[in-house]
Amino acid sequence: MTTKADDVFKKLISHCKEYGFIFQSSEIYDGLSAVYDYGQTGSELKKNIMDYWWKSMVQFHENIVGIDAAIFMHPTVWKASGHVDAFNDPLIDNKDSKKRYRADVLIEEYIEKLEQKIEKEVEKAQKRFGDSFDKKMFLETNPRVVKNREKIEEINSRFVKSLEAEDFQDVKALIEELGIVCAVSGSRNWTDVRKFNLMFNTQMGSLSEGASMVYLRPETAQGIFVNYLNVQKTGRMKLPFGIAQIGKAFRNEIIARQFIFRMREFEQMEMQFFIKPGHEKEWYDYWKEKRMKWHTALGIPAGKFRFHDHEKLAHYANAATDIEFNFPFGFKELEGIHSRTDYDLGAHQKFSGKKLQFFDPVANESFVPYVVETSIGLDRMFLAVITHAYNEEKLDDGSERTVMNIPPVLAPVKIAVLPLVKKDGLSEKAREIFDELKYDFMCQYDEKDAIGRRYRRQDAIGTPYCITVDYDTFEDNTVTIRERDSMQQDRIPIEKITGIVKKRIEVRP
Ligand code: ATP
Repeated sequence: MTTKADDVFKKLISHCKEYGFIFQSSEIYDGLSAVYDYGQTGSELKKNIMDYWWKSMVQFHENIVGIDAAIFMHPTVWKASGHVDAFNDPLIDNKDSKKRYRADVLIEEYIEKLEQKIEKEVEKAQKRFGDSFDKKMFLETNPRVVKNREKIEEINSRFVKSLEAEDFQDVKALIEELGIVCAVSGSRNWTDVRKFNLMFNTQMGSLSEGASMVYLRPETAQGIFVNYLNVQKTGRMKLPFGIAQIGKAFRNEIIARQFIFRMREFEQMEMQFFIKPGHEKEWYDYWKEKRMKWHTALGIPAGKFRFHDHEKLAHYANAATDIEFNFPFGFKELEGIHSRTDYDLGAHQKFSGKKLQFFDPVANESFVPYVVETSIGLDRMFLAVITHAYNEEKLDDGSERTVMNIPPVLAPVKIAVLPLVKKDGLSEKAREIFDELKYDFMCQYDEKDAIGRRYRRQDAIGTPYCITVDYDTFEDNTVTIRERDSMQQDRIPIEKITGIVKKRIEVRP
């Protein structure tokens, strides 16, 4: 992370606290690591992200329905899904600092540094050669670039092979050979790499009744798979169809840092799309495109997103890609799109002894459907939105403002209603307008302090529209509407506010 990006990130975190977006959990007890609470502004933004997702998935697709499964599930679910045996991270400790790391992350960060070196070479050459610069040729022929590229490929293939074979000795050997040091102690004094299961567990029932161990779900997807037949039959669903769900998931992450990027309690928005085997490639491509459009339709620049296709596939997938977002600490996974074959339904069929199939009346055959899933972290989406939104601006008059350019459809408060001054009946008129608008939009009424300061407060929480009531309002029933990003002010009739704002905050991805 560059120091500038680091600085901006720190400012964003304190802005989130100051304006009621995000608080540390149990802060008065010094907090609980990697657990966060959403405040009065943040919970609105989070709810709006959920709504935007739910509408795009469920309301806008005739063949996708939503469910809300319980967090606790039968323990055999996690045996069948592979999580009991395979939901592990490779753990490594530095003996001097006692700091704990994920071995795979240490190696990925090393690779990222090599990638950055290549990028720097390209930038330098671009400056030197100007318009005549041929990037493709440079990447193929520059000896330093070629050497680093070869090194990346060599590390990648060895690392993927040893992780897949769970050859942890070799993972440790690789960390030592690359000379990776602990960021805190600076030493190479590493423990062996060990397997660490990320699932939390607890007891269900009192001990006297013979309690059994249950897990807090590490993903919402399994709640959908075990309900596949319930939904298919009761909803009379035909392939292809999808089941969507938003809900909490829990992972005992080894390293939980970077604010709400990696939490131990978080929320997922997942959709499993059930299809006929053999059609997975076309649906995988369809959902890749559709999901990217969902992001860019918000007006966040397309350059902030990129696909990252997986080389190392999870135990359940035959194709997988991440939609990565350019967070202040670099491009990182925001959403996963996975072609999961019939792995999950097949496994549940085996472990439960119940048939989880679809009968195709045209072909007169039954089969276990294949699945393409889209899985996005709600909190990570929140972080992507606020990262994009947070801006410090220098204005023409020399003053500064901090503004959250949150896409209007997601903004916690859509309209602030402000009387110019608190006298001569302006407050009463403004309240009257507020009391009408509140049935259509989340609104705030504010009459405290000078109008300029009130505008700044609304900028800081990302309110896209401020409505100001002044003396002219009594003359001609008009108000001023101020747009957050351009700060442009227009005069409009009171009865047009709802229509204008509704139109401007609508998104159709
Ligand atoms: P990562 O590689 O970052 O650990 P993952 O590949 O394990 O993520 P998935 O299992 O595919 O993630 O989960 C789907 C989505 O859930 C991710 O794209 C991410 O947005 C979100 N997510 C996963 N783990 C966390 C976490 N600890 N905190 C917040 N969001 C998370």
